[in-house]
Amino acid sequence: MAASADGNMSQTVIDTAVKERERLHTGRSRTSTMVVLGLLAAAGLFAALVLGKADPNTPPDCDGHTMTHTSLCQIISNRGGGGTFSYSEMIDRRESSKEIWRYVGFGTTGVMLVSMVFAFTKLDPNRPWGTAVPAACPRCYQPTLREKLTVHSVTRGRTTYRYSGIVTLCTPVCGFRTIRQR
Ligand SMILES: [Zn+2]
Repeated sequence: MAASADGNMSQTVIDTAVKERERLHTGRSRTSTMVVLGLLAAAGLFAALVLGKADPNTPPDCDGHTMTHTSLCQIISNRGGGGTFSYSEMIDRRESSKEIWRYVGFGTTGVMLVSMVFAFTKLDPNRPWGTAVPAACPRCYQPTLREKLTVHSVTRGRTTYRYSGIVTLCTPVCGFRTIRQR
């Protein structure tokens, strides 16, 4: 559900923007984003190397029992893919599911590493918050205003309310701040 920022919510959206700017400039935004993306990259690597480890020589299992070269495995499935399978067919089934883990795992790791490169640049603490406003600040008369579309979400029960507006901030020293709708 979308709502425009008015009354008290305007102040809350402005506060959200100020906190975002602080998190960006202290580097906390970048650190926490790197940690989350790094953990996901590691989870992908784990999935690929451990769950997806190729293992064509270990005897396959059939319903919890280790198969012998002459035994058959009957798989009953109401989703398709059932049937009777030989020892080598059961190894193929196991190895192809491991192959999927390798694709998913290495794929996840790759996407996360690329995201880390982008996030590292985008969340650089030396990068200014928002975009420059081509006007002088009405309080300090300096050309230091910057603005950014800011969203503040509040979840009540199963509904999430989103309040947004374009927040304009001057330097922390000046402290001028205002909000307008798109
Ligand atoms: Zn100012």
